[in-house]
Amino acid sequence: MGARYHRRMKTPATDLSTRLIHLDYQPPAGFMAPAPAVHKASTVIFPSVAAMRTRQWMDKSSYTYGLHGTPTTFILEERLCALEGGLQCVLVPSGLAAIANVSLALLKAGDEVLIPDNAYGPNQSMAQATLAQFGIRHVLYDPLDVADLAAKLSPATRLVWLEAPGSVTMEFPDLLEMVRLCKSRGVTTALDNTWGAGLAFAPFDLMGDGSGSLAVDVSVHALTKYPSGGGDVLMGSVITRDAALHLKIKLLHMHLGLGVGANDVEAVLRSLPSIALRYRAHDLAARDLARWMQQQSPVVQVLHPALPGSPGHAHWQAVCGALHGGEGWAAGLFSVVFDARYSQHQVDAFCDGLRLFKLGYSWGGPMSLVVPYDIASMRHRPVPHLQPGHVVRFSVGLEAVQDLQQDLQQAMQCAFAPA
Ligand SMILES: *Cc1c(COP(=O)(O)O)cnc(C)c1O
Repeated sequence: MGARYHRRMKTPATDLSTRLIHLDYQPPAGFMAPAPAVHKASTVIFPSVAAMRTRQWMDKSSYTYGLHGTPTTFILEERLCALEGGLQCVLVPSGLAAIANVSLALLKAGDEVLIPDNAYGPNQSMAQATLAQFGIRHVLYDPLDVADLAAKLSPATRLVWLEAPGSVTMEFPDLLEMVRLCKSRGVTTALDNTWGAGLAFAPFDLMGDGSGSLAVDVSVHALTKYPSGGGDVLMGSVITRDAALHLKIKLLHMHLGLGVGANDVEAVLRSLPSIALRYRAHDLAARDLARWMQQQSPVVQVLHPALPGSPGHAHWQAVCGALHGGEGWAAGLFSVVFDARYSQHQVDAFCDGLRLFKLGYSWGGPMSLVVPYDIASMRHRPVPHLQPGHVVRFSVGLEAVQDLQQDLQQAMQCAFAPA
């Protein structure tokens, strides 16, 4: 291939501008370094017309166009498969694009999709606006009630979204029973695995015994969070273990043109080797702070699935508790409910008064973040397991726990001081 390419290009390159584009020099083969090469391509060059006509874009046996993959994207896809225990992976420009890719690939007019009531908000809004436009109905189910999910499965249900735990209110569902139920009804399950990140539990081996006897069908991951780890990249992945399912997802990915940029892939590849160390550090710091917040008088409830008494704690225990030598890992997120006796104004003043925790969406980076939420406007069903009050979510970064604790303390003292 190389020889033929050189022979064809050498002859016409007489002018400097031509030679600057069609340069004969090739670096020697055999270079190795910890980081893979960053290949950037829209155009991929074929050695012959025959290759152009016969190469396949659907598998990873060759290259056809930048959108369909480069050595750089293939490497990240394979590493993410290793992280999550999958066989096929598709990279998309954000976590939300990953959710959209799955729903749009697997659903058609007349179908129904079930979404937990505590799911990542934009998943619900997309169903409400975009899926509805295509004649796809969505139904919200209670994430803490398997019977409710069972009751809502209908002959039209084609997809069940799962999220463990739910965004913001952090309820961990009975993942094992929910997946068993969907399997018994022949309904495809898609898990938003951003929180677990392939580390707290294995989405394709939920029993955690290496058997793979109980698995979700699709795992979606916002690589924006822990795989990036920098708060500076948007990317998502869709991982499967079934070739037919993957092909549907891959086809839609191609039709919508959901490619990712090589520099962003490079950033994720650079962070990925340290993901387990970072995840555990975020986890330990978040648990320290969550336990400390339980003792603070303005706080009526702390929502963290690994803390006893938190909604769904037993389900977290069942899926995550025995892993990592019985330590049971969790992400660096928790929410608190501030007593209803405080005004929204005081809660806002608390968030504004934090100096190290910054106001901002997303999580998984080095900087701690805080967001106040209005749960009443977010939930469509009653949430009796939540104490009345004001929900604030914390994403714990990599700062020293002592500094973060002092920050929380000073902001609470200022905002919630008795008048
Ligand atoms: C952040 C997040 C997403 C979306 O990821 P983006 O890359 O920001 O689009 C999806 N699901 C969950 C659970 C998330 O936390």
